Amino acid sequence: MSFIHLCTRLSPVMHLSDFISYTVTLSSILLDMSTLNASCHCGAVTIQAEKDSVKGIVKCYCRDCQKHLGNFAPWVVCNKENSGIAGPVGEYASSPTVKRLFCTSCGSSLAKSPNEGSMLLVAAGCFEQPLDLEVVKEVFVEAKEPWMLSK
Ligand SMILES: [Zn+2]
Ligand SMILES: [Zn+2]
Repeated sequence: MSFIHLCTRLSPVMHLSDFISYTVTLSSILLDMSTLNASCHCGAVTIQAEKDSVKGIVKCYCRDCQKHLGNFAPWVVCNKENSGIAGPVGEYASSPTVKRLFCTSCGSSLAKSPNEGSMLLVAAGCFEQPLDLEVVKEVFVEAKEPWMLSK
């Protein structure tokens, strides 16, 4: 439903309860239209990514990701220029070319940030809304364990 359609359907006389439900609906629609929102477990760190700049999900089975997330890693492929991160973010270099971001308050693993290029990989499980995204690639499949196969 577009913003225009929503407005034209509003009655000229609006009760407060209608107004509240309208604002909630409208804000969730606007939010849904332009931004994907993620956060850590405690909520102190928030990440926003422009929806149009997101390229889908990459599943990585490398040993670094397994250590970082305790499992294989479903990363949402975002772009650094079109993403924002706020809150107490810690980082460490998991290799000479990659930094890992985490919340210093709750310890949630949040993202993988290659030093080169504009890609920012954000942990799929940290997103607030259901992700309507395709898995576009699986990488380091040689490190995949039998128990990681989906059933
Ligand atoms: Zn946190
Ligand atoms: Zn990996």
